[in-house]
Amino acid sequence: MAELLNPRPPAPDDAPRRPRLGVLGAGQLARMDQQAAIALDVDLRLLADGPSDAAVLAGAEALVGDHGDLDVLREFASGVDVVTFEFEGVDNALLRTLEEEGHRLVPAPAAKLFAQDKLHQRRGLGEAGFPVPPFEHARTAVDVAEFAATHGWPVVLKAPRGGYDGRGVGVVADAQAAAAFLAPLPDGALVEPALRIERELAVQVARTSDGATAAYPVVETVQHEAMLRELVAPAEIDDALAAEASDLAVRIVEHIGGTGLIAVELFLTPDGLQVNELAMRPHNSGHYSIEGAVTSQFEQHVRAALDWPLGSTELIAPAAVTVNVVGPEDGSDPRERLPAALAVQGAHVHLYGKGARPGRKLGHVTALGPDVATARATAWRAAEILEGTAS
Ligand code: ADP
Repeated sequence: MAELLNPRPPAPDDAPRRPRLGVLGAGQLARMDQQAAIALDVDLRLLADGPSDAAVLAGAEALVGDHGDLDVLREFASGVDVVTFEFEGVDNALLRTLEEEGHRLVPAPAAKLFAQDKLHQRRGLGEAGFPVPPFEHARTAVDVAEFAATHGWPVVLKAPRGGYDGRGVGVVADAQAAAAFLAPLPDGALVEPALRIERELAVQVARTSDGATAAYPVVETVQHEAMLRELVAPAEIDDALAAEASDLAVRIVEHIGGTGLIAVELFLTPDGLQVNELAMRPHNSGHYSIEGAVTSQFEQHVRAALDWPLGSTELIAPAAVTVNVVGPEDGSDPRERLPAALAVQGAHVHLYGKGARPGRKLGHVTALGPDVATARATAWRAAEILEGTAS
């Protein structure tokens, strides 16, 4: 038996049984799932690496074990009504075994694979007629050079599996750099052109197993060094483009049979919208929704996973801006500056309880406002105080 941290006392015999939602992973996303679960009196149980995971520190009940071990996954799945995720990196073959053994997974492994394998995603969506960038499966530097002969250098190489926040993505300018990128990847990589990206957009879509969907307003994400830095809701794009992006996201989710909360990341290019990637779980691009939408993405995830009615996705202010709080270069901890950040009225500060390291996502700040500029100014003011860069 794996160790159970923060075990919840048994409910009295006459109490109605509470649903138990499982989440594989125990980082900041599970920590925010936990906040939503508390409000709905849903029991959450996580699979954690250890006692210092962000959600375990916040008191969530967690089994400690290796998500690569089928016996651990079996024990975990047997103790919950439904298994959901806060990350992509669980072996899809193990998930399929759980599904075959009768466990309920949200999303099902066949849908989850679209978020776990970038090549599978590009092939599957491309064949179904969704707009994806030109791509090839490159096994060698020669393959990459052939692709570049058509599309031009530099090209973008992506490890099909296991990357996040830009880890596993490389812009390469010649065959030598391509060979270096491919060296640790025995199964090769996805190669695509370096796109002219005008904006990066994202749409959160919730879907239940009986096919009800709810899409959030289209948001714009701004990346710094391939990590989300700022998030603007709604995206400042015209209504027709927003409708097109939203429709595209919902059709993709329906096509792959996705359930739970799913984030569809899109690129706006001179050739129109292109699918970038999918996240089959609450995602950084939806953090604004905690304060900025009628139903947060985390509550929506709980509702969708349990097949409950989905909540309204409407914004509760004309604009919401979220800024990630990233560990500063000097290694200092943003917590030291929390009281000063809280003096910024209207700034909603979230700290994840993670150890401060330069470049690590440690929290975020959301501000609402009558317009984007006002919300942006408030969110950045508090984030810069936390990061120690405020003037
Ligand atoms: P991850 O899974 O690590 O988040 P992504 O595939 O989303 O990786 O890429 C990370 C970032 O790199 C994107 O948000 C975008 O800014 C940039 N990027 C990705 N693909 C391309 C491309 N083909 N052309 C130009 N920039 C890209």
